[in-house]
Order: sequence, then structure tokens, then C-alpha cells
Amino acid sequence: AQAQTLASFAGNNRLADGYPVPLLANVATGADAAKAAAAGAEGVGLLRTEFAFLDRDTEPTHEEQVAAYGAVFEHFAGKKVVIRTLDAGADKPLPFLTNADEPNPALGVRGYRTDRTSPGVLERQLAAIAAAAKEHEADVWVMAPMISTPDEAAAFTALAHAAGLPTAGVMVEVPSAALTSAHILVGADFASLGTNDLTQYAMAADRMLGPLAALNDPWQPAVLHLIKATCDGAAAARAATGAPKPVGVCGESAADPALAVVLAGLGVTTLSMTPRALPAVAAVLATVTVAEAQRLAAEALAAPSAQAARDGVRAHLPILD
Ligand code: PEP
Ligand code: MG
Repeated sequence: AQAQTLASFAGNNRLADGYPVPLLANVATGADAAKAAAAGAEGVGLLRTEFAFLDRDTEPTHEEQVAAYGAVFEHFAGKKVVIRTLDAGADKPLPFLTNADEPNPALGVRGYRTDRTSPGVLERQLAAIAAAAKEHEADVWVMAPMISTPDEAAAFTALAHAAGLPTAGVMVEVPSAALTSAHILVGADFASLGTNDLTQYAMAADRMLGPLAALNDPWQPAVLHLIKATCDGAAAARAATGAPKPVGVCGESAADPALAVVLAGLGVTTLSMTPRALPAVAAVLATVTVAEAQRLAAEALAAPSAQAARDGVRAHLPILD
């Protein structure tokens, strides 16, 4: 066991039996990255690149992009940084990429799909990421948002590898990707579950709408089944290829300490969250073994409701009382 408290996080996160579950940070800017490093984050699990460019009406130049990405990489020398290509559209419109007149923006041309309507932007971003990675010593992984099919995953991975980025993966945030992850992960090096969107699409409930918050709950057993399907698919892809195929979580769910236990039990290999959540998540994970986390995950999967899943798991975690 480690000297973890609810107030501080020292890195090198492990369960009670020593099973490692690295805790990473979600960031958008160099300033965020400095705070995340100071908070003990073991790396970055989600660098949201769109935020640096939200107020622009033209595509950022190569030099602007290299500088913005490098401002994050420089805080994590020798550590993993997962950078996401532009996730424009729906809750994150970008004037130079997205069409504000779509009737259903959450189901529209967003994320990786903008490559269909604005070809070239993605290749130029990958080139800038590769150039920034060369300048810094971070272990840079790149992933695409809103991937829906194994073909999209393979096409993105090939593009990233061709740009000189050796570790390329996809976000799993569309139910079709969760259900086909065995094929997706044959063609990609890793996956990261975006549980904010995965929940919105599984429950058909707009994540921006307050009155639907109870549906937009990652404890919904339907969402947990999709997470399990993703991890099971990764295990199959691992067996088929002999490559590691890690599956992280970078949605808000990773910041809920009791849900973090369930995610580890479902087979998730890293958790990425807002830096202020790191100490509490580490403290709770340190109280369970991997076998206990697996038992609690099975209990949550079998629950009839989000509330029953949450209450049942929390009852086994006295540190949360
Ligand atoms: C998600 O969908 O869970 C996610 C991490 O991405 P974003 O919140 O930026 O859509
Ligand atoms: Mg998302």
C-alpha cells in the first residue's frame, strides 16, 4: 500500500496488490499542462487541441500549431502525452471547419468526420504534431475523435504512422466503435474511451441538456456494458496481433473514484482526468485489489439502474463514507 491521502498524489498509482493503473491528466493548454505536472499526473491522457483555436476563423498555421502542442509536451519529458486531433463540431464548433446549419450537430460532420468535408486539415495537423514531438522528449501518442468504424480507425492510423507518429489510436465514444473494438484495435495501436460522448450516444440524451442529466450518467449499466465490450475487444485484438492494445478512459467518469474502481475492474489500463481529481481517485484505488475491482465491476454490470450500480459499489468502498 502507498501513502496516498485524499489531498495529494505522488504518481506511480497502483491498486492495493501493486497492479498499476497510471493516472493521467486532461489538458488543453501549456498552462493546464504545468498545473497537471505539478499535481503529479503521470502523463497526459487527453490533450484537447481544439481549445487553443476555438475563437479563430482560419486554420492555425504550422508554426502556431507546433508552438501550441510543444507548450504541453515540454512539461512531460519522458512521459506519455496522448494528443487528440481536432474534435470540431457539436459542443465545440470551429468556424473554419464546421457547418453551423446542420440539423443534428451531435450526429453531424464532427471530429474525424470533418476530413470528408475539409481534406488536408488533418494531414497538416499530424505534420505539426510530429514536428512538435521531434522538438520535445515526451512520448507522444496521437488519436482521432468520433471514430465509428474499423475502416476509419485503420485509415487514421495509417495517416498518423505515415506522418512519423509511431503510436496512433482512436477514441471510442460512439457505440458502434465500442461494439467493433476487436476489429478497430487490429488496425489501431490503442483506444481511449470518451465516456462523455459514449454516454450521450448510448442513452440518446444530449450531453448539454440539464433535464437529461440522469440519463447522461456513465453509471448507466448500458454504458458499462459498452466499456466492457471495448475492453473485451482489446483482449481479442491483443491475442490476434501480439501487440499490447491499451484502453484508457479520458471522459469525466474517470474522475469519479468509485467508478474508477469499476473501470479498472472492467479492464481499462489508464485513467485520465482533471488534475484536481487525482488524489481522491488514487486514494480509493489504493484500497482495492484487481480481483476486488473485477468483482465490483461485475456487480455494477448486473445492476438494473445507474443508481443501483453506484450505491452497490460505494457500499463496498468504506473510504468513501
Ligand atoms: C468524451 O467524449 O468523453 C471526451 C473525453 O471528449 P470531449 O468531452 O472533449 O467530447
Ligand atoms: Mg467526446
